[in-house]
Amino acid sequence: MPVTRNVAWDGRLEAFKGRDTGEFVALVAAVASACAECGLPVRPEEQLSLIVDITEGADGGGIEFLAFDTCICHRRCREPDLTLRTAAGAPDELKTIGARLILGHPDRSGIRAVPVLAYTLAPVLTFREPGGELTSVLVSVLISHGFRLTMSSDYAEMLRHARDVHTSVSCTATEEGRVSLHINGERIHSQQLDPAAAGDAAWLEAAGREGKILVISGDYLKITSTGVNIDAAARLGTLVTGNVSTAT
Ligand SMILES: [Zn+2]
Repeated sequence: MPVTRNVAWDGRLEAFKGRDTGEFVALVAAVASACAECGLPVRPEEQLSLIVDITEGADGGGIEFLAFDTCICHRRCREPDLTLRTAAGAPDELKTIGARLILGHPDRSGIRAVPVLAYTLAPVLTFREPGGELTSVLVSVLISHGFRLTMSSDYAEMLRHARDVHTSVSCTATEEGRVSLHINGERIHSQQLDPAAAGDAAWLEAAGREGKILVISGDYLKITSTGVNIDAAARLGTLVTGNVSTAT
């Protein structure tokens, strides 16, 4: 059983992740905050296990998809494991997880409040390219609409380098606080904000004033009720960003 730092993992994972499996395991574990089995916090020095669920499927055109669901447990709670299932079509039980945040960006007039929408897909969905490489579905779709890969997890640098994405991508917000992202008119993610809550109201106000928001997305973003951790995504090369205009 291979162990990378303090994390044990199932050796079969290497068939999917290749040479970089150890680094992948370490990065996924580094952003884990709680044990998926007992719910207690995981600490850096504890012995941990990586559990991976892979669902394989193919769409009508023969493109092979693999959905990766990963979780981290204390080794005392659960041994490392890998399960592989086959689905009839492309995996369809995908959900998006998101959060809104406001970043302070210094400019000539002082500190500007930049509204940010972060979201990711769960489980992580990849497809197999003709050469056998696994490629992220979410990252490829977003890059084809003008998003850019970001290797830095530094928010100030991200704000400086963010570019506008194609006009095929837009963000809408209703008076009731439903914020939605669209690509070619199709909703790809939405979040319910509360216009009566101060933080959410400030976000909605900033989005209206700026006319655009910064969208941060990609695989292995760790989004919880307490915040967003983009470190693993940046280091795995699956972090993308772009400015999306807010339709009026
Ligand atoms: Zn545990």
